[in-house]
Amino acid sequence: MQFGDFQIDFLSDGTFRLDGGAMFGIVPKPLWTRECPADERNRILLRCNCPLIRTGKQNILIDCGLGRKWNEKQREIYAIEERPTLLDDLARVGLKPGDVTVLAHTHLHLDHAGWNTQMNAKGEAEPVFVNARHLVERRELDIARKPNEVQRGTYLEQNVAPIDREGFEIFDEAFEIVPGVTMFRTGGHTAGHCGVRIESGGRKAVFFGEMMPMTFYRHLPWIMAYDLYPLETLEMKRKLLAECLKDDALVLFDHDPNLFAGRLRAGEKGKLEIDPVDVAS
Ligand SMILES: [Zn+2]
Repeated sequence: MQFGDFQIDFLSDGTFRLDGGAMFGIVPKPLWTRECPADERNRILLRCNCPLIRTGKQNILIDCGLGRKWNEKQREIYAIEERPTLLDDLARVGLKPGDVTVLAHTHLHLDHAGWNTQMNAKGEAEPVFVNARHLVERRELDIARKPNEVQRGTYLEQNVAPIDREGFEIFDEAFEIVPGVTMFRTGGHTAGHCGVRIESGGRKAVFFGEMMPMTFYRHLPWIMAYDLYPLETLEMKRKLLAECLKDDALVLFDHDPNLFAGRLRAGEKGKLEIDPVDVAS
């Protein structure tokens, strides 16, 4: 999609599944299954969506999916596809991993930092995007380096340590990657979780990250049980939705299995609706 001066392509690393109860927090199952079906193991389908923003000089990738460092048992638990597709999608738009100049990490959870590294012949995890600056908010890197018992399951050392040795580029609160593309701290999901605002040629898009991973989360109380600070998620989501409505901004989803981008609309009885946007146009 041409977006002002930028070209935005919506890359995917394929799908996986997480427990529906964990994904919808306090929302009772009879409510969420009306919108989002669960499989026989109560899991719902997610996709790893990674927008690629090309400015002409910079190739900025937002997050890098699940990667390929999974054993049989993990693939079975999370229903991870045998061949994650991010590098294929990158090749489809004519780029190699070495062409990515910036990796903007919303956060470093296992389903967002997977392609940071892959296994070499010696069985060591080595960086994939060898020429990229890896941008991350300070609080997020602090936690990823030393996760506590609750956080440990969602950070993989192999995704973090090899990049840390080369050096993450750390910022506090907000960081303008290039004029018009800014990472901003949301908190909520994790203390240092970030969203990304993209503005060019009078157009605006907001990548919500885990503040609204799929269309279903347009309902304010629909918040993941994974979120460490759910009341922060609530307030940030309220703020971002109002901003996107006011500015007629595109909303970009990190995990929607069917939709990369949508546009908000106030529907009946003040309910928020999301109209699909064709990103191929
Ligand atoms: Zn995620």
